[in-house]
Amino acid sequence: MKVISLNPQSRGYDINIERGAIDRAGEIFNLDRKVMIVTDDGVPRGYAERVKSQCKDATIFTVPMGEESKSLGMVERICRAMLEFEMTRSDCVVAVGGGVVGDLAGFVASAYMRGVDFYNIPTTLLSQVDSSIGGKTAVNLGGVKNIVGAFYQPSGVIIDPSLLSTLPERQLKNGLAEAIKMSLTSDEALFEIIENEGIKEHLDEIIYRSLLIKKAVVESDERESGVRKILNFGHTLGHAIEAAEELGGLYHGECVAIGMTVVCANEVKARLIEILKKVGLPYGYAGDIDAAIGFLASDKKRAGDKIDVVYVDEIGNYRIEKTSIEDFAQIIRKEIEK
Ligand code: NAD
Ligand code: ZN
Repeated sequence: MKVISLNPQSRGYDINIERGAIDRAGEIFNLDRKVMIVTDDGVPRGYAERVKSQCKDATIFTVPMGEESKSLGMVERICRAMLEFEMTRSDCVVAVGGGVVGDLAGFVASAYMRGVDFYNIPTTLLSQVDSSIGGKTAVNLGGVKNIVGAFYQPSGVIIDPSLLSTLPERQLKNGLAEAIKMSLTSDEALFEIIENEGIKEHLDEIIYRSLLIKKAVVESDERESGVRKILNFGHTLGHAIEAAEELGGLYHGECVAIGMTVVCANEVKARLIEILKKVGLPYGYAGDIDAAIGFLASDKKRAGDKIDVVYVDEIGNYRIEKTSIEDFAQIIRKEIEK
């Protein structure tokens, strides 16, 4: 088993990475108490059951799959279920699912009795490489994503790559986009693995190396002031396309893939496009790019009329530059592939 220890200023925890580790949750976590297991109805039921069988006294709460479950209404329902289950301050919550379940269950754990222990078993590639680390939890409100939440570190995380065997191919690619993102700003060797090797055969290594990057970033910058901005690489345009596509149904990672292509130097861009073709992620946008550009102004990371944009001139390195929305729109129009 590989273990990555996180030591953010608040409280440390381990990320345990091993195939089959879900069946050792009872050893790795302290489940000798009341446990609220949160999952969704798209996650194979057996995963939550396997965790339950290792708990002293557990209940499984299953939410409908999808972003809509990240709501205050769902927070209330889970908290009520915890109250009914007579859970106390010394009991715990375990998330078994993707980023939706992790964000929701983590927020519930942060709030119930002002905070109970939270364990995370992410089951999508995106949640394994990205959302399971960093301590961000949140739900959506009034159509605004992640607007109500808390920084709340888990007490432990299990990353079991064997759980990805049931994940739909498109979801796998969605997570790969984030791994490619991290490699571009921070790890040329990881980029080369994805570029040259079989992805499925190297999945565990891709996950591990991505986690090391995210660890380094969040440890140096727990509350998102500086370095953490590199996690936003490709996301400025990515989020804008996501907003423009709301009903069109591009996944987050797909939008990020497109978003990365406009902020790389020419040589990097050429290699990135080859990788995106290989993986099966989009590298151009046939939709209305002006509509997407219209959403740039709503970028959360905006300061005045400028946005912090992360550029990659050379794989493994980055530069953050304040760019006016006008200038960035021009870059997008010039660089975007159709
Ligand atoms: P998701 O949680 O919606 O999961 C995608 C789909 O896959 C769901 O339908 C789910 O039921 C299904 N699924 C999950 N695991 C499966 C498995 N092993 N086999 C088969 N099906 C499975 O999506 P996601 O991409 O994991 O997460 C997206 C969410 O994560 C967003 O809400 C986003 O805001 C959040 N997020 C949070 C952070 C953070 O730092 N907290 C970072 C990135 C994203
Ligand atoms: Zn992302």
